[in-house]
Amino acid sequence: MYTLDFDAVIIGGGMTGLAMAGQLGGLGLKTAIVEKQIPEPYHPTQNFDLRVSALSPQSFKMLEKIGAWEHIENMRFCPYRQMRVWEMRGFGDVTFEAASIGEPCLGYIVENRIIQLALRESIVKMEEVDILSPATCLAFDRNGSGISVTLQDQRVLNCRLLIGADGANSEVRDSFGITIQMDTYNQSCLVASVITDHPQQEITWQRFTSSGPQAFLPLPGHHASLVWYDQREIIDSLIKLDLPKLGEKFQDNFPGELGLVKVHSRGSFDLFKQHAKNYVQSRLALIGDAAHTINPLAGQGVNLGFQDTQCLSQTISKALQQGTDWSSYRVLLEYQRNRRWVNELMLRAVDGFYYGFSNDIAPLKWVRNAILTGAKNPYINRSVMRYAMGL
Ligand SMILES: Cc1cc2nc3c(=O)[nH]c(=O)nc-3n(C[C@H](O)[C@H](O)[C@H](O)COP(=O)(O)OP(=O)(O)OC[C@H]3O[C@@H](n4cnc5c(N)ncnc54)[C@H](O)[C@@H]3O)c2cc1C
Repeated sequence: MYTLDFDAVIIGGGMTGLAMAGQLGGLGLKTAIVEKQIPEPYHPTQNFDLRVSALSPQSFKMLEKIGAWEHIENMRFCPYRQMRVWEMRGFGDVTFEAASIGEPCLGYIVENRIIQLALRESIVKMEEVDILSPATCLAFDRNGSGISVTLQDQRVLNCRLLIGADGANSEVRDSFGITIQMDTYNQSCLVASVITDHPQQEITWQRFTSSGPQAFLPLPGHHASLVWYDQREIIDSLIKLDLPKLGEKFQDNFPGELGLVKVHSRGSFDLFKQHAKNYVQSRLALIGDAAHTINPLAGQGVNLGFQDTQCLSQTISKALQQGTDWSSYRVLLEYQRNRRWVNELMLRAVDGFYYGFSNDIAPLKWVRNAILTGAKNPYINRSVMRYAMGL
């Protein structure tokens, strides 16, 4: 057994854990990331991954600042300049255009693994940050001035701050007895990586049907990611189809804009939301999906996680400048105060969309179509865009 000392240890080297490490390294804090899996290296001939994220301009700026975006540019990504939202068999139909607020695009679709690889590449160059991977935790113990983490290979990591970035099933959160509020939805979603007949035109769209939304996320060339929300039984039956049959189902049930659809991989996800009652304890903080898991309907999950990392690093930076104990409960509480209500608001707003649109109740149908129509008003249209983009 041997012991290593760090200022901060982050459990989970997913997108948010790595972004956190990049920012703490930038503050000069000696930081370790413990991650159980090493992502597969990138090769340009690889098929597109199933898991992709719509990154907001705010997330883009953070990735650019910590030197990760240049690596994404060297791999692959797709900007989208327009977003269309409409209801099937309704009168509401609105398009948001980046040009109308003087922005080059509304966001970027990037594979999760590419974001992870880019972040790793930017961090590897930082002297302050060590990536311990593959590595798994065995135990967490509080000691006088911090927390120690025992790894399966018997290494012990002592730190002043432990950060749980280990996703929705966070072991850190559970080990320290932080409780969550959790809700499941009746729907599941099917995600497919596809090649479409027509080239994409840098637009992302979402169509609401009474059985759930359908979404199109563009990827370079003729590639795209399609998302289909529906009753769990329907998604279970779709996932069992062979790939050509599933392609036909998309053609029959999705908007005609796609043309022929060739599916090359697919997967399904149960939908749930959860929110930790507390984000912090003394010498401990949760970020990203470990703190909150949101319905993926609005593509906000990792964007909220990145905002957590920015808020936590700014809070720590302020305490360092003031010469106060930067990992104390008092300082960490400021992070919780700034982030928890914002995330709760977004969880509720997305729920409002989910419940408001997934039904055929006539008055509700009228109201939601009126809302979509109202969003065509140039002032409202631009305000909604600025809010969604974090500007
Ligand atoms: C279908 C779907 C579509 C989505 N689309 C979008 C989108 O368009 N835009 C968006 O912003 N968000 C989207 N999301 C949400 C987004 O994927 C998540 O919010 C994001 O992955 C959370 O990142 P994270 O780093 O917090 O957690 P995770 O991605 O779960 O990463 C956690 C990491 O911790 C590691 N780990 C776990 N336990 C341990 C342990 N004990 N020891 C060591 N390592 C450990 C794991 O290996 C993993 O690498 C979507 C989600 C789903 C399900």
